[in-house]
Amino acid sequence: MTLTPLQDLAQSLVNCERCKLAKLGRSQVVFGVGNPHASIMFVGEAPGFNEDQKGEPFVGAAGKLLNDLLASAGLSRDHIYIANVIKCRPPNNRDPEQDEVETCKPFLMQQIQLIRPKLVCTLGNWATQTLLERKVGITKVKAQAFYMKDFVIFPLLHPAAALHQGNLLPMLKEDFKKLKEFLDRHSKPAEPTSAASTPTAPVLNIESPQPAQMDLFG
Ligand code: URA
Repeated sequence: MTLTPLQDLAQSLVNCERCKLAKLGRSQVVFGVGNPHASIMFVGEAPGFNEDQKGEPFVGAAGKLLNDLLASAGLSRDHIYIANVIKCRPPNNRDPEQDEVETCKPFLMQQIQLIRPKLVCTLGNWATQTLLERKVGITKVKAQAFYMKDFVIFPLLHPAAALHQGNLLPMLKEDFKKLKEFLDRHSKPAEPTSAASTPTAPVLNIESPQPAQMDLFG
């Protein structure tokens, strides 16, 4: 059976030992899941306990909340692709370390190149700072579109943050409303299908970069 380039990349990482996380208790590499042709990709921080056990991103409590938030924006897991910056669980869910991010980031970038999403929603500080390549707080940049060369970044609070701090949940829900508004503004009408009632993945039509937005970073 021939593998797609994305499957090939996943396969090449199964026994990855490029960073110390390989020896710090991970059960498996959590590559990513979802629609390999998705126009929208979500990027989290790193696998937690449940993700490490199951081999899929966002299958624990934060994943359940993410599913509800996706539904509120008219999306489902079938429409999107989800991956993390770091593909292996850090011990005790500690923050990723700089060398781990630097080692794993090229594989996230390859995933993005192969999936070619138009929109990348970064969940939390780690994913946002890694992809924007700026040390900027998530609360300053969340729920806004940043036009990069090949895709748009739309940072969002991390669902786990709202689970730990309940007062962030209304803000997160509000930000998913803004995501829906962005999607509605940039979606092409779906092609008619025979199963008219089946929701289809949005086909995004995002226009050229607006570099002025980068001024936000000062
Ligand atoms: N948090 C993340 O950032 N990623 C996961 O896969 C799960 C929880």
